[in-house]
Amino acid sequence: MSGHGPARARGRVTMNARIFHGAPRAPHGRWLIALCLAASVATGFAQQPAGRGAAAAKKPGPWFGVMLPPKLSSVPAVVVGDRGTRPAIVPQGEANFHEFEGATIRKDLETIVGFSKESRATKEIGSGQLWGRISGYPSSAKTIEWAAEQFRQAGIRDVKLQPIAQDPQSRMWLATSWEFKLLGNPAYGPGTNDIVLESATPLGPDLPGGTLTAPLVYVGSGEPAVTEHLDVKGKIAVQLVIPQAHMVFERTAVSPHAQDLARRGAVAVVNILRQPGNEYARDLGGCGAPCFNIGGRDGWFLEQVLDRAAVAGVTSGVRAQLTVKSETKTNLKAENAVAVVPGKSDEVIILDAHADAWFDGAGDNGDGLSVLVALARHFAKPANRPDRTLALIASAGHHTPGINGPRGFLAANPDLGKRAILAVNIEHVAQRNFAPGRSVAPDGYRDFVADSGEAPITAGVTNESPYLDTLFEQGVARYGTNFVSAKSPMASGESGGFAPINGAVVTIMQAPPLYHTSGETLDIISTPGLERMARFLAYFVKAAGKAPVKDINPPDHPLHRGAAPE
Ligand SMILES: [Zn+2]
Repeated sequence: MSGHGPARARGRVTMNARIFHGAPRAPHGRWLIALCLAASVATGFAQQPAGRGAAAAKKPGPWFGVMLPPKLSSVPAVVVGDRGTRPAIVPQGEANFHEFEGATIRKDLETIVGFSKESRATKEIGSGQLWGRISGYPSSAKTIEWAAEQFRQAGIRDVKLQPIAQDPQSRMWLATSWEFKLLGNPAYGPGTNDIVLESATPLGPDLPGGTLTAPLVYVGSGEPAVTEHLDVKGKIAVQLVIPQAHMVFERTAVSPHAQDLARRGAVAVVNILRQPGNEYARDLGGCGAPCFNIGGRDGWFLEQVLDRAAVAGVTSGVRAQLTVKSETKTNLKAENAVAVVPGKSDEVIILDAHADAWFDGAGDNGDGLSVLVALARHFAKPANRPDRTLALIASAGHHTPGINGPRGFLAANPDLGKRAILAVNIEHVAQRNFAPGRSVAPDGYRDFVADSGEAPITAGVTNESPYLDTLFEQGVARYGTNFVSAKSPMASGESGGFAPINGAVVTIMQAPPLYHTSGETLDIISTPGLERMARFLAYFVKAAGKAPVKDINPPDHPLHRGAAPE
């Protein structure tokens, strides 16, 4: 995605500009402008969207005069302006660690994202609407093999590609092509044609017969307190999801609400995700009926259309036609790349980053994998020989059902597993932070704007070792890593697979909203953030390499307290 920054800014229309454009011909125009200016100053130029439920547009036009949404990914999900990110901190004695320089790591990240772009360009999955680095497909295998090659080129002798077979009971459902079309009707205004909401992403299961046409019914946030008053029978229920962070946090609300709607007779469920931009989103599911996510800008359009239809008394209901083609895969094959850097001791520290991804996956988990490669280059140098033996895993990951990189590693390397005193999962570590901005896009949808730092990073330590916690504190002071202030025993994503080891599992993980969406592109990765994390982890591994085992795994602390959802 390109064209962000100044071009993006030029493309934006502010509310104030709209007021001015409308004002000049009015009587006492100058007074009006002065008043507007005064109002703007008084509100600190805060800009408000026109708002849902606003009166129908004055000019009759298609779709009740609601501005049409932008095409999929045609505008950046996040406004990334020209001001840079906070520079990385290079403590004394680290100036010659060139393998940790942000630009070097970013080059690797670009290569990793390149495997996803190739998956898209070659239509690895069906029509090419879905892409990524998908375990069981060449895109993931190429990424893992590239990582193995980097480990070898770094000078590590013991590098293996280890195959993983998909659990025979598991199946992966993938949509190979799809369409979500709102059906036009002259009653919605002159020139109303069918419109495809391009950010729609099917989550399964299949539509009976592959296609479905039904009226839409808006159900708000989908709580039973609302839905018990609504008739959703035979309709497509549209529920609103406002993620506060990454979508994992919404699973426990969205799926039960969707299942409830299905029980009440909805033929399909649509989750409008009020998220940055207009992007595909693969997370959520288990809806109990055919289910779609819809991205921010398409969702904003759809909500307004449904409101205007209600205000205009269009009682027949706005209708949509859904089509989905899919395939279900079994017996898939993937692999891990495992590199062992012998230390002065036989005790093992595992460093893991998953290579699989939905869409570009620059943040989940391209950034983590590129940092892992930098660590391999660092510790492969004789001068940096580690105290404890390091097992580095470029993992087949955990997105494909029945394939789990960490479990595969432990099965293939029981000796390393037995000797492991600590596992570190490097997962989503260098995305920029962004927040709702002061500006809105031309359709009234609030902009999300990147700031100068990285998104908050949780440091999960399953046994809550006080010693390990001090290392995270030191990381904040030494490198400026944006670890959240609260301690956590959480173990998410890859970490669950390491539960059998006789040691702490550490999870280093951001949870930003664009996770598992097509909006997680290179633009939103912080280059100094990559450097910060790589330098911190080298420091962490060196300290943990020297610490007594009783500090890493205090005998009076249970090893695993955090739940491990995947
Ligand atoms: Zn991940």
